[in-house]
Amino acid sequence: MLIEKLRAAFLPSVIVTAVREWDKYDHEVGIYHVVSPFSNAEGAATSHVLFTCVCNALSCPMRIAARYEILTEARASLAPLLESEGLEATILEIHRRVQSPEYLGQSRSSHISVDEVAELLDAPLATVFRACDQLYVEEKLDVRGGVLRDFVRRFRLPKEMVAIMANAAEETLDFSSDEESADRVTKFERKVQRETGFISGREAFGAHFPRMEKRLLAEIVCERLATLLLQASIDARAIQSLRRLTATRLLEREQRFHYVPAPLSARVIAMYNAELLEIACDNAEIELRRTRGVTTPQQTFRFIAQQYAELAMQFRGGS
Ligand SMILES: [Zn+2]
Repeated sequence: MLIEKLRAAFLPSVIVTAVREWDKYDHEVGIYHVVSPFSNAEGAATSHVLFTCVCNALSCPMRIAARYEILTEARASLAPLLESEGLEATILEIHRRVQSPEYLGQSRSSHISVDEVAELLDAPLATVFRACDQLYVEEKLDVRGGVLRDFVRRFRLPKEMVAIMANAAEETLDFSSDEESADRVTKFERKVQRETGFISGREAFGAHFPRMEKRLLAEIVCERLATLLLQASIDARAIQSLRRLTATRLLEREQRFHYVPAPLSARVIAMYNAELLEIACDNAEIELRRTRGVTTPQQTFRFIAQQYAELAMQFRGGS
């Protein structure tokens, strides 16, 4: 029995119960509920669902067939809500059910991705993303690393700034995932909240939150970074000189050379740019190790500077 194998694989204090099982052609596919006595950060016992086959292969045809069955049933059960309340309410319901925890075809045990929601509802991905965006603006749902998460009120960056930082961080972490780069952004946002006292994106960005115009982003972030990195690419001790550019020093420099329009917080923009410079330094060091010194930090900085310059041009509409 699959359940016996699963129980044997967990500690005795972990409770494994079968939610549903399929038994066909020497395959035992099942949905299992796993409750661990160990509490999570919020102090609650953690439970999750496990969808697996005794053969343990992701490509197992019985597992794929069972998943298809679940998707079809779930789609039918969600249809009345979709019809009466619309897509946004349905997405919230899917998130609630996955958290409960219920298996709705997701690959992670307690989180469902936007792609998986689109597949479940047989809806275009872009439409689902738009609905998630709207739920984010209404402070009802968050999407990080491509997966649906509870909305927790705290300082946040505008979406476009998140995308730039996550993208830069992804290059730093050698074998990074969406989730890891999302973590780096979240860590930075917590730091901003701690150091500035801002408890929402709107406090720091006003009407530029949760969406910031790309033209403005080009001006206050991309072009500044391109210039600073290009200057560093000429300096022989590039990494060290950039590492010393903390947010405070950057802010002092920025105020002399550069203007951040109200209601944007100049301090947050300086902290953001300083963080991206730090990521660039990490990237340069990794590149240096990876190429065993064939590539110099200067070359890497020049390359990253060029990327920001191109991004700025793209944000300004190619002009
Ligand atoms: Zn199988």
